[in-house]
Amino acid sequence: MSCSLHTYQNEVDVAKGKHSITSNWDDWKWQLANCVKTIDQFERVMNIKFNHQEREKIELTVRKFPLSITPYYLSLIDRFSYQNDPIFRQAFPSPEELEVVSHDMVDPLAEDRDNPASTITHRYPDRVLFLVTKTCSMYCRHCTRKRKVGDQESFFQKSEILEGIEYIKRTRSVRDVLLSGGDPFMLSDSRLDWILTQLRKIQHVQIIRIGTRVPVVLPYRITVKLVRLLKKHHPLWINTHFNHPREFTASSCQALERLANAGIPLGNQTVLLAGVNDCPRIMKVLVHKLVANRVRPYYIYQCDLSEGLNHFRTPIGKGIEIIESLQGHTSGLAVPTYVVDAPAGGGKIPLNPNYLLSLSSDRVVLRNYEGVITTYQEPSNYKSKCCEPKFAECMRHNELSHGANESFIGIEKLLSKHNRDISLTPSNNFHLH
Ligand SMILES: *Cc1c(COP(=O)(O)O)cnc(C)c1O
Ligand code: SF4
Repeated sequence: MSCSLHTYQNEVDVAKGKHSITSNWDDWKWQLANCVKTIDQFERVMNIKFNHQEREKIELTVRKFPLSITPYYLSLIDRFSYQNDPIFRQAFPSPEELEVVSHDMVDPLAEDRDNPASTITHRYPDRVLFLVTKTCSMYCRHCTRKRKVGDQESFFQKSEILEGIEYIKRTRSVRDVLLSGGDPFMLSDSRLDWILTQLRKIQHVQIIRIGTRVPVVLPYRITVKLVRLLKKHHPLWINTHFNHPREFTASSCQALERLANAGIPLGNQTVLLAGVNDCPRIMKVLVHKLVANRVRPYYIYQCDLSEGLNHFRTPIGKGIEIIESLQGHTSGLAVPTYVVDAPAGGGKIPLNPNYLLSLSSDRVVLRNYEGVITTYQEPSNYKSKCCEPKFAECMRHNELSHGANESFIGIEKLLSKHNRDISLTPSNNFHLH
């Protein structure tokens, strides 16, 4: 079904033709040991020859941002037309990565600032990002953490991981922990098991999420043994990172099937990339393949302002156009949320086409995906239920004692009836001084 025969044959073809030890092809450790890390290796395996000038520029790029491609992912590249190949573009360095433009930032999301421990980014009140490794099986050219991924000292010390666990333990507001990196599945089974076990011992941690690109670039890492281990730590959610329909193969589909069969809800985060998936038709096929493999499209990210990504960036209008072509046109289940991760640590901001055209005191004018303009009559006798003055009673009545929060933040606070603030003002506002 979703698995393209062509790519699968190509995969086997490379396995047989270029690497003599075919029996190890689906051994993830063999894949890691045989990652293509130099331009020479790439030329040899792919039977491609760059000219002298091209090569010099690529060398320079690799010196700044290292190269690593799993043989599996490499096998998905169309050798006969690689220049505009979406797989090639995600995996192989482009000299354009060296073009630094004025608004590029080393750490656009200020992840190093919201940093109570070396492995933790704590931006939102109830959830943290926990970086458990700096390595990945493949270095994606569009990686927002280019500055970190591929570091010399790629594994964190156990003490640094412990520091993160200790922070989560003493921060009771954290109910959701996202393991990220690097790729958490680059850790050994036993290290992963240890981290998950430690986190599970913490009462206030309700869910654990793992962000991984392994199903896309190294699907053989999803072994029966790994899945058995993960199952012990429910409720566990996994978000993966498919960017293009051609990344679906028999191998990646099997990895997803194993995870889904283990009862792990799967989501996907796609990065909108020029020359890879900046097209409503490609995105539609991508989201359809995701849901067919029991993966819920979660986010489409606008490409960050990290250094070396300028050539991958699209205007925001492209993202809106893509959502316009999905919403209403296909299953709501297949429509992700388009987000911009705001520079300087502002967090994710969802963007949508406008469906709300106008409103009066009792009527709302809306439009649908086909352009039909319609109205919604507001109720005439609605009285907003307001329990804030008797919060304790309401908490008891609705059984909210574990989870409801009495304090409101930001715009939510402006909307609350029992809050006296009528505006939010930047701290350095001139006229207030
Ligand atoms: C993306 C992100 C999260 C998780 O955000 P969700 O919208 O809950 O998926 C948490 N912390 C940081 C720092 C993030 O960048
Ligand atoms: S898998 Fe994720 S963290 Fe690793 S290089 Fe790719 S985008 Fe970056």
